[in-house]
Amino acid sequence: MSQDPYVSVVIPVHNEEENLQELSRRLTATLDKLGKPYEIVLTNDGSTDRSAEILQKLHEQRPQQIRVIEFNGNFGQHMAIMAGFERVRGEIIITMDADLQNPPEEIPKLIAAIEAGHDVVNAYREQRQDQWWRLTVSKWHNRIREWMMPKLRMKDEGCMLRAYRRHIVDLMAATGEATTFIPALALTYAENPTEVGVAHAPRLAGESNYSLYGLIRYNFDLVTGFSVFPLQLFTMLGIVISCLSFLFVVFLLLRRIIVGPEVEGVFTLFAIVFFLIGIVLLGLGVMGEYVGRIYQEVRKRPRFVVKRVLEE
Ligand code: UDP
Ligand code: MG
Repeated sequence: MSQDPYVSVVIPVHNEEENLQELSRRLTATLDKLGKPYEIVLTNDGSTDRSAEILQKLHEQRPQQIRVIEFNGNFGQHMAIMAGFERVRGEIIITMDADLQNPPEEIPKLIAAIEAGHDVVNAYREQRQDQWWRLTVSKWHNRIREWMMPKLRMKDEGCMLRAYRRHIVDLMAATGEATTFIPALALTYAENPTEVGVAHAPRLAGESNYSLYGLIRYNFDLVTGFSVFPLQLFTMLGIVISCLSFLFVVFLLLRRIIVGPEVEGVFTLFAIVFFLIGIVLLGLGVMGEYVGRIYQEVRKRPRFVVKRVLEE
C-alpha cells in the first residue's frame, strides 16, 4: 500500500453527473499543488443519473487518490459524509459539496488554519450565491439557531466547506447517530474551532437537491438533534398560560357572583380557546419531533448501506 495521505477530501454526491468532471479537475489541480499525498473520498448517495459511471471512471483514472463509496439508496448528505468519515486515512479531513458552490481553490486556506493549531475550521460564505428565498430562510434560521443554541458558534451553518483534525472525525464517526448534523456535531467535540471566509459560486450545473420542505425538515433535525430548548419552551409556556387561565377563571367566577349570568363575549372566549388549542397542537408537534428521533435511534437500523467500495 502507498503512503498514508495527509489530506482527505470527503464529498457527498447525489445526481451530479454534470459537475463531477470539473470538480475532479479543479480539486486535483489544487491538491497536486500542495505537494503532499492526498485522497478524495466520494460517496454516491443513490444517484439516479450517470454519476456512478462517472465516479468509476474518475477512480480508474487516479486509483491512488480517488476512492468511491457507493450506497444502495439515498441516505442523505450527512450520512454520505459519515460513510466517508468512517473510511478516511488522512490527518486533515475536508468536507465540501460536489456542485462546485464551494471553490476547491479555498482548501489551502482551511489547511493553513488547521496547521495553525485549530481542530475544526468552519467556512462562512462571503457573498453567497443562492436564490433569494434561500438567503432569507437561512438568515432567519441562523438568527433563531444562535438564540436557541448559543454554544454552537458558527456564522453560517449551511456551508459545507469545512476542515477537521482526524481525531474529531473519528469521534463523529463513532457516535453512530442516524440523524445528525455534522458541523454542529464537530463543534460539540472541538477544543479550538475557528472560522474563515470563503468565496461562494452558483451551482455549476443541475438543481439544488433541497426544496423548501426539505430545508424545514433539515433544520428540525439540527434543532432537535442538538437542543431540548423547544421542549423547555413549552413547559415554560404551559406554566405561564396555566397561571393566566387560573386568574381568568377567578375573574369569570367573580363576575358570575357580582354581575350574574351573561352570554355576551362568548366569541372572545372562543378566540381564547382556539389560541390555546393552537398552542397545544404545536406542543404536540414538537414532542412528536423528539419522539420520532428516539424512534429512529431505538430501531437500531444501519444508518446507511454500502453497496460497494472502489479503492486501492
Ligand atoms: N447530496 C447528497 N444527498 C442528498 C442531497 C444532496 O449527497 O440527498 C449532496 C449533493 O450532491 C451536494 C451536496 O450534498 O454535493 C449539497 O447538496 P445541494 O447542492 O443540492 O444543496 P444546496 O447547496 O442547495 O444546499
Ligand atoms: Mg449546492
